[in-house]
Amino acid sequence: MKKDSLCLHAGYTPKTGDANVLPIYQSTTYAYDTPEELAHLFDVPKDGHIYSRISNPTTSAFEEKIAALEGGVAAMMTSSGQSATLSAVLTVAQAGDNILAFPTIYGGTFNLLKVTLAKIGIECRFINPSMTDEEIEALIDEKTKLMFGETIANPAMTIFDFDRFAPICKKYGILLFIDNTLATPCLVTPFKYGANVVIHSTTKYLDGHAVAVGGMVVDGGNFEFRGNPRYKDFYTPDESYHGTVYVDEGGPAAFALKARMQLMRDIGVCPSPFNAWLANLGSETLHLRMKRHSENALFIARALKKNKHISWVKYCGLEDDENHEPAMKYFEGGFGGMVCFGVKGGRAKAADFIRNLSFIRQLTHIADSRTCVLHPASTTHRQLSDQDLIDCGISEDFIRLSVGLEDAEDILADIEQSLDK
Ligand SMILES: *Cc1c(COP(=O)(O)O)cnc(C)c1O
Repeated sequence: MKKDSLCLHAGYTPKTGDANVLPIYQSTTYAYDTPEELAHLFDVPKDGHIYSRISNPTTSAFEEKIAALEGGVAAMMTSSGQSATLSAVLTVAQAGDNILAFPTIYGGTFNLLKVTLAKIGIECRFINPSMTDEEIEALIDEKTKLMFGETIANPAMTIFDFDRFAPICKKYGILLFIDNTLATPCLVTPFKYGANVVIHSTTKYLDGHAVAVGGMVVDGGNFEFRGNPRYKDFYTPDESYHGTVYVDEGGPAAFALKARMQLMRDIGVCPSPFNAWLANLGSETLHLRMKRHSENALFIARALKKNKHISWVKYCGLEDDENHEPAMKYFEGGFGGMVCFGVKGGRAKAADFIRNLSFIRQLTHIADSRTCVLHPASTTHRQLSDQDLIDCGISEDFIRLSVGLEDAEDILADIEQSLDK
């Protein structure tokens, strides 16, 4: 099936007499008639459900759908995007290890990797596209476990150049983790370009209606762990799970199995079945929404370029955008809904712009069906000096616009009336 159909059908196929729509299994646990049946599930957990911290039928259906959309072999839903990143990283890294990441990633992820992982002994080494390959490779040693990037960095709007960075990971046999939240599998499929693990905040476009916080870790099934000295615990017995060897038990889904049987078991960052159900319901229209978000965003970006109150616009769908060329290599069917721009007159005028909007709301959220907007310099980044703002790529006039599904002319009219004021 094509992606549009997978959004509606992947993950749940009713048997005769079953509910036609995925039911909510609001149950912590699962009943079995014989000790042998339950014993079998402890040996081979992928054959059924034991306890909802480990897996749940509603959640599993959503996981299967996202794995299918991404072209991966298995997925694990988590309670948030943050816990998805945390459990994915801890599946391969421990105290003494290090990881590579780009500083332009989502602020919450940046802090998790830089500050919180450091507290448990995992060092994050920051790299950026202006470094040479030699400079990046010089940071890789035998303790390096992965490279972390975002398809579209939020809010810097840079596009991850798979063709440049995936070969570096391959050369050294390290995993490439990609946060695909802002592109979604309907626009970009990172596994096609060399990613090994895909991460989502399902809170954003996958849910699409701003009702449920959630995350997803997707296993590409395209990495050879066996024999790679960086990942010995994938092919040697796990004594904490009666000697399971993940590459034997999980096959191509060894990463997803280890994530679930070690991290989800021990840390318990499971979503509620109701939130999994809500996110799954939202994802049924993902294909339609991403087309509309992309069309609306391109329309707004083009109009803003011509507006006399605007000093600059960043949107990779614009032909003259600095990220248009890499975006053309990886995006199919649109460039997403995030547009950033600068209001002439700096911090004060940008704040006035937010104040004078009518239906477009100021939110820290993005990727909702409703258009929303944020001025980082006066909100999320207000403690920073003007120089600090410049250093993290956010100017005082910077506006982040998440273009929604309303009529594009209504969105533009609200923006224009506010700019005119
Ligand atoms: C929101 C977001 C996250 C964090 O997800 P939560 O669901 O809020 O925990 C991670 N990455 C990106 C790109 C995001 O936009």
